[in-house]
Amino acid sequence: MQTFTNLVNGKAVEAADHQEIFNPATGDSLGLAPLSSEQDVNDAVIAARKAQKMWANTSDQERQETVTRVAEILQDNSEYLAQLVTREQGKPLAGPGSRFEIQACIGWTQVPAALSLPPETVYEDEERKDTLHRAPLGVVAAIAPWNWPLMIAIWQIIPAIRMGNTVVLKPSEYTPIATLEMVRLINQVLPPGVLNTVSGEGRIGAALTSHPDIDKIMFTGSEATGRRIIEASSRNLAPITLELGGNDAAIVVPGTDAKAISEGLFWGAFLNMGQTCACIKRLYVHENDYDQVIAALSDIARKMPIGDGMNDANLIGPLQNEMQYKKVKELVDDARTNGCDVMEFGDTPEKGYFLPVTLVGNISDGQRLVDEEQFGPALPIVRYRNLDDAIASANGLSAALGASIWANSLEEAEPIALMLEAGTVWINQHGAIHPMVPFGGNKASGYGVEFGLEGLKAVTQPRVISIKK
Ligand code: NAD
Repeated sequence: MQTFTNLVNGKAVEAADHQEIFNPATGDSLGLAPLSSEQDVNDAVIAARKAQKMWANTSDQERQETVTRVAEILQDNSEYLAQLVTREQGKPLAGPGSRFEIQACIGWTQVPAALSLPPETVYEDEERKDTLHRAPLGVVAAIAPWNWPLMIAIWQIIPAIRMGNTVVLKPSEYTPIATLEMVRLINQVLPPGVLNTVSGEGRIGAALTSHPDIDKIMFTGSEATGRRIIEASSRNLAPITLELGGNDAAIVVPGTDAKAISEGLFWGAFLNMGQTCACIKRLYVHENDYDQVIAALSDIARKMPIGDGMNDANLIGPLQNEMQYKKVKELVDDARTNGCDVMEFGDTPEKGYFLPVTLVGNISDGQRLVDEEQFGPALPIVRYRNLDDAIASANGLSAALGASIWANSLEEAEPIALMLEAGTVWINQHGAIHPMVPFGGNKASGYGVEFGLEGLKAVTQPRVISIKK
């Protein structure tokens, strides 16, 4: 059985303890992942601290070239990494699955490589000149979730490194192997200590985020963990980028052509079997359009091939883990018990954490499947009578990551978009993130943004040089 390792100061670290990782589609073992100790966390932070001054002193151009080489390594190993992601996380190789995830990793590496934050003159008159410089923060603790394990780790690692920080990354305990392999590969072009890993459960994440020598925390995960991390950061005063859960609403404007939007709605909701932070998690449809929208979504759902994602024919894979599988089942059962219309599509294999593609109609706000983040392939479709009610529903929860408006024309959609409380409001698309466009949550979905120039600024500290003329 293969044993995977963490990497500290450019070297593989033997762990005292391990956990076995299994393929969620087949139950097959993938190998042993390391479980770090608190001493390992300390060693990784020390290594990152030691490397940081040297790394910050490299030229901007040198760091750009290094990050560009990281993108090349990802490209050269893209099929190997995609297959590992499918076997560990479950998302299929095909469609918007693991090959798509690796291509996203490459794009989110190339774009920060090409961006820079030169000094900026913020004020000048006859007597003075003030210039804002962007210095690295120091050592970044990056804590990743299990849904898009490589892509989200890249979102955290690359801007941090690009700006002269060093990183200690902890992948999710559910999906450590593909991430550790990615880190091993990209370390070929990074100086020792620039990127280090520790692995294990929340306890190890807590040891890392509360470590006194951490200067910045990048966290993507649940709201509950986000709150713990805020408390932990009182130990080190590290600023935090907090990307938390979502419960994105999509509103279909009355009279919108259901067929024209159905493909976008479908993947907006079922991308990665719904295990995506910015997926459509509740769909609001006018009562006159309700039947057409359900019919159009059912047509697509009926044809979706479900199964082991290593088979290129499959577009829907398993849930990643038993906890999530049980949670989604529980929310659908709750809706069924409450008399909702549960429509299930597709033949699910007997083995593995597979669930059918599920549309749930005759449901309303206040039911668990609407109010709680399901993070799975079960979409509640809520009828509305007045657009104002749908807008109030969309804004009615504390989660506020994304939202979308679906309409025949921009004239109809844009005024509504401005009324929605969310980090991103998409029009006629959902979850359409881009490496140049800032992304982050409002309200309980977190604070701070990633991507683009704003994302780079978030891993720097401003330093002003103020000159008397
Ligand atoms: P989670 O909060 O359970 O775990 C995330 C990470 O935090 C894991 O690595 C875990 O080990 C670690 N962790 C747990 N306790 C910790 C502690 N006390 N201190 C430090 N680290 C700790 O989340 P999850 O179940 O892995 O991810 C799913 C959630 O993430 C969903 O709510 C989803 O919406 C959200 N998410 C948000 C975004 C975004 O960009 N906003 C993106 C993806 C996922």
